[in-house]
Amino acid sequence: MFSFLRTFAFALVAVVTLAGPAAAEPLKLVILHFNDWDKMDNAGKVAAVIAQEKSAAKAEGAFPLVTYGGDMISPSLMSGIDKGAHMIALAEMVGIQYATLGNHEFDLGDEVLKARVAESDFAWISSNVTLDGQPFPGVQGPQIIDMNGYKIGLFGLTTPDTTFLASPGPGVAFADYTEAATSAVGALKELGADFIIALSHAGEGPDRELTRLVKDVDLVLGGHDEVARIYYDGRDMLVGGGAEGEFIAKTTITLDKVEKRGKMAVVWTPTFDLIATGGATPDPTVQQQVDAYAAALDQGLGQVIGKTAVEMDTRRAAIRSQETAFGNLVADASRTATGADIGLANGGGIRGDTVYPAGTELTRKTILTELPFGNSTVKLELTGAVLREALEHGVSGVEDGQGRFPQVSGLTFSFDASKPVGSRITEVTVGGKPLDDNATYTLATNDYVGSGGDGYGMLRQAKVLIDGISGGLLAGQVIDYVETRGTVSTGVEGRITRLD
Ligand SMILES: [Zn+2]
Repeated sequence: MFSFLRTFAFALVAVVTLAGPAAAEPLKLVILHFNDWDKMDNAGKVAAVIAQEKSAAKAEGAFPLVTYGGDMISPSLMSGIDKGAHMIALAEMVGIQYATLGNHEFDLGDEVLKARVAESDFAWISSNVTLDGQPFPGVQGPQIIDMNGYKIGLFGLTTPDTTFLASPGPGVAFADYTEAATSAVGALKELGADFIIALSHAGEGPDRELTRLVKDVDLVLGGHDEVARIYYDGRDMLVGGGAEGEFIAKTTITLDKVEKRGKMAVVWTPTFDLIATGGATPDPTVQQQVDAYAAALDQGLGQVIGKTAVEMDTRRAAIRSQETAFGNLVADASRTATGADIGLANGGGIRGDTVYPAGTELTRKTILTELPFGNSTVKLELTGAVLREALEHGVSGVEDGQGRFPQVSGLTFSFDASKPVGSRITEVTVGGKPLDDNATYTLATNDYVGSGGDGYGMLRQAKVLIDGISGGLLAGQVIDYVETRGTVSTGVEGRITRLD
């Protein structure tokens, strides 16, 4: 039933035979694909739609295949607690058969990913990820699935951007997309694949490159850019299922063996459908499991993750006008998580409006109450001049308690609110040195501010190194920061000086 045929440059090719012997009849293959599903909430609906589509396919003699386009085990609040184990269990219940690794699979480090892959009863496939020169443990290379004598080839790919989008260990390498695909397709063709599917986690641009540069890739099942898409130009097919299980992208391929100039050839025709899951009645068993996880999450959120050794003031008037210990904590956590030069948190994004006396125990819920917006952290590259402009904007509404006021990390600045807006910043240092308008800096901030929210339009001209889709949850980063250290010991320490 399951055998390894031979070794190619990159990986073994696994061959699965689903039925046989070869029949002369056409084959109908129904591929149910989704991607970028990292929050458990929709699992019951996704399971219901997939089960319904599978039984409909089987009823008409078709072969269903359930695929996943990557990004599953992170980020979510629950993943902060169980490192993504709940998503693997739900993916199994939903019926995923093949999944490619996304960048978020590497958010929690190599050891966590190894454990998640090891406990998955579906196959993780990716042909361009290695650990110390070997295929990543448990992750498989190209696959041939023999369906009634038709050989369906399948291989996975993972965006090389994962190197800077997530936290893979130093031994993890991502081979070039085109080269890895060429090698995988070569292996599959040599074994007689009639139809080749790439399970790709990189977004539309690289997927189009793939179909352009690598002959014989017939269908790309995508992910990463979270776009629900059906593209077909008569030859190449690109399909994506949006995000969070809101859509199941259904691709039906009818393959047939025909005689062409005395030789047998396989021809195929596709049909497509994007199935919205919103109206589905959740599968009761899966929903019960989701509810159990939600209860565990609620309990986990109430657990103490550390304490503060300093007073933390998140009252509206303080957080929007002066340096505060909690503001420092948020900016420090996002800067540390992304390895940026500078962290910046808008005061308006911190909402607890309370004072935590020194010695207060902190729970995950404390952090979520302070950061309720579910923002992710982006990493931008910008010039000193743009950074100065951002700080000027940050203090431009201080007399009115505007939420734009910046809480900072890796940076100190002084301002004089008696001066006109636009010329209030009197001194800025980054990493202890005066800000250089012409130098380039990296900045971690939340995705709202990073995309120009709270009036930070100047940040739109920055180069995006980590975007909102690829970034970690800001609240999760703060929780990790507190949990790792156990004690918040940084108080107000002279990062922001008000001169008026
Ligand atoms: Zn991704």
